[in-house]
Amino acid sequence: KEIQENLNNTKELLDSISKYFQSLSSINVKPINTPTPLSKDLPTTPIPFNQILKTIETSIYPNNLHWLHPMFFGFFPCSSSWPSIQGTLVSKALNCLSFSTISSPIGTEIEKIVSNWLGQMLNLPNQFIYDKGKGGGLTYGSASEAVLTAMACARIKKNTDNPVAYTSSQSHFSVVKAAKVLGIPIRLIPGERDEYGNYPLNPKKLMEQIENDKANKFVPVFICGTVGTTNVGAIDDLVEIGKIAEKEDCWFHVDAAYAGSFAILPEYKHILNGIELATTLNINSSKMLLCGFDCANMWVKDSKLLTDYLTQNPDYMKKSNATDYKDWQIPLGRNVKGLPLWMVIQQFGVEGLQKHLRNHIEAGKLMEKLVNEDERLEVISRRSFGLVGFRVKGENEFTDEIIKSLAENDEIFLLGSKNDGKSFLRFSPANCPPDFSNVRRTFELVKQCLDGLSN
Ligand code: PLP
Repeated sequence: KEIQENLNNTKELLDSISKYFQSLSSINVKPINTPTPLSKDLPTTPIPFNQILKTIETSIYPNNLHWLHPMFFGFFPCSSSWPSIQGTLVSKALNCLSFSTISSPIGTEIEKIVSNWLGQMLNLPNQFIYDKGKGGGLTYGSASEAVLTAMACARIKKNTDNPVAYTSSQSHFSVVKAAKVLGIPIRLIPGERDEYGNYPLNPKKLMEQIENDKANKFVPVFICGTVGTTNVGAIDDLVEIGKIAEKEDCWFHVDAAYAGSFAILPEYKHILNGIELATTLNINSSKMLLCGFDCANMWVKDSKLLTDYLTQNPDYMKKSNATDYKDWQIPLGRNVKGLPLWMVIQQFGVEGLQKHLRNHIEAGKLMEKLVNEDERLEVISRRSFGLVGFRVKGENEFTDEIIKSLAENDEIFLLGSKNDGKSFLRFSPANCPPDFSNVRRTFELVKQCLDGLSN
């Protein structure tokens, strides 16, 4: 009876989630702050399920920012899909700690399969592919975890009292945070404006800084390059940075959290040129590959670069010669993290995922076109896939006004940012219908503000 009752409840919950998804096109993207806050009273006896479900529908869904809403244009997308939810459900059902092959044989196998599938889709060199080279991949929770783990291993590998790390001033703050946590000084090489107005890391400046540091007895241990920076989507030159890393015997980590996924499109294969020089690579399949958070794929060119430093074999665990992911990551426990991607790749196929990525790019192209057609506006840098940064020409004042006005509008979630002292609207499409009516509506809202300011 208990099983049947739980099953019925879960089916009802799934129905409710489905209705929530369907409701998204007819509600506002921002939370409505309902006057029914969640009860703070500790339940001493079980609450009936229908009452809990009602609370979810009346107080939980409406009081959140709707990340799957068509008018959500903030941050980077956290794309999701039913297959990823299904994968998460199966993982929850297995309810295992997949830290070793003994603890979860199928968990280890799934990690290997999805890492190789995605690696193959991205045309990664053999060194990153299980059974072809010395490396392989696994799913982490986040890009932050990936860079922290890589930097920690890089530091132990060099075994020095004077380590120093490098990245671009445009790279994600998680790189600086990792350095802080590990107590490693980090040099932020200014991302420099190029002919497209993007701001990739300048390899010459990187080399100069390294020479300077070496002259002051620092030992370079780690360099991070980014494919698709968070602010403007700049793509660092992996070939040039990789050569420097090789010459200096430095760990070269590539953070391709957002943009890396686009390399599964033949027309964007080149964005990972030079990846053969990388020690580790991270792509968040939670961002662009419909896996939902958390899902960050990490590859290492030689598994020993992780396992030599992260392996611990206590008496209470049986040793084995198989792949044990506890030795590839900082935490011990992990669920079967590859399951959402395993479900997604099977149900969408490579073609389905390519279609999703192309749809995202088309949304960006449309916004770029609309901006370029209005002589009062300018794009601040070359569109990077879906990401378009644009502003009102001239001083920041008008752009800041539009950012403020959109922040107060519940119909849209779009954030402002700054680069090189210039304010801009950071348009990052996430959930676009095939007709891109949400992109046109966004432009209309911007234009309305602009017309109001010009009058
Ligand atoms: N790297 C880049 C380029 C990002 O844009 C982000 C987040 O948006 C991150 C890293 C951090 O991602 P996570 O939340 O997976 O740590």
